[in-house]
Amino acid sequence: MGGNRRFVENKSIKPRQDRAALSNTEKGQKPFATIVGCSDSRVPNEIIFDQGVGDLFIIRTAGQVMAEASYGSIEFSSVALGSKLVVVLGHQSCGAVDAAIKRPDVPGHIVTLVNSVKPAAEKTKNMAGDRLENTIRQNVIDQVMQLRDLEPVLAKKYRNGEILIVGAVYNLSTGKVEFLPETLKDLPQFRATAAAK
Ligand SMILES: [Zn+2]
Repeated sequence: MGGNRRFVENKSIKPRQDRAALSNTEKGQKPFATIVGCSDSRVPNEIIFDQGVGDLFIIRTAGQVMAEASYGSIEFSSVALGSKLVVVLGHQSCGAVDAAIKRPDVPGHIVTLVNSVKPAAEKTKNMAGDRLENTIRQNVIDQVMQLRDLEPVLAKKYRNGEILIVGAVYNLSTGKVEFLPETLKDLPQFRATAAAK
């Protein structure tokens, strides 16, 4: 959050982006956070969070939709690399979410993305406000809840307070990442000691 504040204020320090960062991480990585975000070229994670080499473990698919390979990658970041935080990061004007609302004919495997976001689009049908914005948020909330319930690794770690799983939405025009309050309430007590293992 501090890194994003720097980015928004045009005060990025671009940490750990030099040759020293390469030698410091050559032997291994210890990312502190895992980002599950959209492939959109306008959401470059290390830039918008002002982080560097070895900081973030990132899984990106359009609409940040997830299936087995994504789940395995997230679990790996937690079990093998010790990442303590999973952030599902949606963004304003997401094309995958827009497609789930409008349902255009799409070729090939793109339908997988649309189908994955469809349940969120259904939920926002009668909601007040902008449907695309509502669906973007709903999609992130649904994805956070999915990960919190994902057995056997993430659900257990989440319940035990060893990891946090939260959701956020990135604003393309301001550069600001807004953490969604719906995903910040009733969090299990985060246990620094358990997490430190
Ligand atoms: Zn997107």
